[in-house]
This record gives sequence, structure tokens and C-alpha cells, in this order.
Amino acid sequence: MPFTLPELPYPENALEPSIDAKTMNIHRTKHHQAYVDNLNKALDGQAAYATWTLDQICEQLGSIPETIRGAIRNNGGGHWNHSMFWLLMAPKGQGGAPSAELSAAIDSAFGSMDAFKKSLAEAGMKRFGSGWAWLIVKNGGALAITSTPNQDNPLMKGFVDVVGTPILGIDVWEHAYYLNYQNRRADYLGAWWDVVNWNEVNRRFAAAKQ
Ligand code: MN
Repeated sequence: MPFTLPELPYPENALEPSIDAKTMNIHRTKHHQAYVDNLNKALDGQAAYATWTLDQICEQLGSIPETIRGAIRNNGGGHWNHSMFWLLMAPKGQGGAPSAELSAAIDSAFGSMDAFKKSLAEAGMKRFGSGWAWLIVKNGGALAITSTPNQDNPLMKGFVDVVGTPILGIDVWEHAYYLNYQNRRADYLGAWWDVVNWNEVNRRFAAAKQ
């Protein structure tokens, strides 16, 4: 079954002023839609992958033939990453707070919540060109911060430096912020914390730990 663009769980203007409605609209209905369409195009006629989930596509990228792997890596990654990204955000004041378990794990891994936020922002700032900064749960359960180029993600074993299950991620492609912030990526990264959906991060953390 072809992949489809997910609906937003909030209105396009619900994340203002951190993220403006026009950016949300173009980001999802143009950029994300293009990843979905191009993923479906790359998989068209590939019966072997007809039942694969999006997780499988990312995790087992290495077993996909090289002739179609590039397109699937870019567009499957793009679809996975953005599908998660929309859910990781909520209107200001509605995203809850880090759970006691997640807070303890963040303190243990990074020293404090502030130090964690600073490290994740640094990972996003240091990403040259386009990509993502992530908080992941590694095999064994430890938290780590990592960054990937383009539309790669930490599920793509064999293709990324650090493998793990993403529980939080921020898009640092210019298309995610340029209309409102122009070149000021640091301002976007700072304002983004206001709209993080900690309830979703907590849920993903608990699931990854199981
Ligand atoms: Mn994006």
C-alpha cells in the first residue's frame, strides 16, 4: 500500500510564534509530501518491499538493492523523520513535561536538562548544510545525542555514525525555519523548546527502554 502524508494533530498556526503557519504548511504539504511521493515512486513495482513498514525500510536499508537504495534512503528517511517531527511538537503549554524517568536519564547522561538542551542545540548548529539533531536510546538503554546529514536517521544501521532509537529530533534543514528566522538557526533551535511535546518524548522513551 502506498505511503501517505499524515495529518497534523494540531492546526498549522498552533505552534506560533516558534514556528509560523506558512512554514508549517509548506514544510508538510510540499516538502514532506514530496518525500512520500518519491518514496512511493521508488518502491513502485518492487513487490519484495510491498509489505515493509517505514521502520523496516530505515532499519534494513542495507538489504535494499543499490539501484533503488539512494532514493529510498533519502525519501524513506524524509518520510520517517517528518512523520515523527510533527508528533514531537504541540502548542505551547500543551506538551507536558519530561517524565521522572526521562529526567533522571537526561541528568545521568548529560548532567542536567539545561546541559542536554545546550548539547542538542550544538549538534544542530554544527550540522553543516542540511540534516537533523537527535536524542536517541542506544542498544543497552543509554541516552545519546547525535546528528545525521540529509534525511538519514539513527535507525539506518550501516549508514550512520551512531545507531539507536530516536525519541526526540529536530529538523535543521533551512526549509524548517528560513521564512521566519532566515539564517538564524540558533534562534529557531532556542524557540523550538517552547513547542516540544514531552508527552510524546516520554512515550517513545518508555517504548525504547522495553
Ligand atoms: Mn524538513
